Amino acid sequence: MIHGQNKILKSNKIMVQMNAKIRIAVQKSGRLYEDSVKLLKECGIELRNVKDRLKTESDNFPLEVFFLRDDDIPQYVEDGVADIGIVGENVLFEKNKKTTVVEELGFGKCRLSIAVPRSQQYDGVATLKGKRIATSYPFLVASYLKQHNVEADIHEISGSVEIAPGIGLADVVADLVSSGSTLFMNGLKEVETILQSQAVLIRNNGLGQPQLDLLDKLLFRIRSVKKAKRNKYILLNAPNEKIKEIIALLPGMKSPTVLPLAESGWSSVHSVLDEDAFWDKIEQLKAAGAQGILVIPIEKMVM
Ligand code: ATP
Ligand code: MG
Repeated sequence: MIHGQNKILKSNKIMVQMNAKIRIAVQKSGRLYEDSVKLLKECGIELRNVKDRLKTESDNFPLEVFFLRDDDIPQYVEDGVADIGIVGENVLFEKNKKTTVVEELGFGKCRLSIAVPRSQQYDGVATLKGKRIATSYPFLVASYLKQHNVEADIHEISGSVEIAPGIGLADVVADLVSSGSTLFMNGLKEVETILQSQAVLIRNNGLGQPQLDLLDKLLFRIRSVKKAKRNKYILLNAPNEKIKEIIALLPGMKSPTVLPLAESGWSSVHSVLDEDAFWDKIEQLKAAGAQGILVIPIEKMVM
């Protein structure tokens, strides 16, 4: 191949890559909508005019967004109408479509649970034998019952599952729970957990290279945002003779930054703290002589 041709081919490839877009499906309205759009925003992706739209684009990232009912998202991603999607694991596993989970997103947390009327005696899964179970998750409930060797009648209903026992439609329900207050208000008690769920990012199984590259870029941003949320920036003052002990308590990203204060014999220490160990560490730091502790949220954390 002559040199000029090679150059043209190369520039064509760059053009294709430049024009490549990744299409994401998110819930149109409902419990996942706000957090999904917020996550994209935190990743620096600005969306044009999202209100009441079926589709929108970003001006600063090659991303197209489809707004859909959450139930339809796994199918759209399996079919490749959307390249990626944000959906609850509850819906994803219920629909049982062929897609790949790429990242847990840490929001939309809930569980799929079995609940029975509070007045009813419950002695384990065997109690469910022969009962009528109302649910919007027939596949997950059937798999759970099968796994526990229990035969029961599953009644699929699409909403307001919690009222089914009250109106005589079912004896038992299998529904999503977060705080448990809806069950409580309907005279039900939670007795088994079928699934713990959160929102996940899924992808189509046959993505082309340009989309895989864009997904990598997006994932890098998502992970930086998630990491930042788990960590806090901490500043404190300490007398120099205590610095060694204090540094030993602070892991930081590499090692803590120590700067002398205007007042002689004192230093300022800067570091990053993991949220899990946060309060324990603060107490230990105070006990070790730290003063004027400031804790600041981190917007992004790029490792
Ligand atoms: P759509 O109109 O998109 O079908 P929906 O009514 O099926 O919406 P929502 O109630 O908006 O769904 O819930 C969307 C998802 O939010 C659930 O599938 C689940 O993953 C998650 N979720 C988190 N907490 C709860 C909860 N307490 N109850 C219901 N869903 C929850
Ligand atoms: Mg739905």
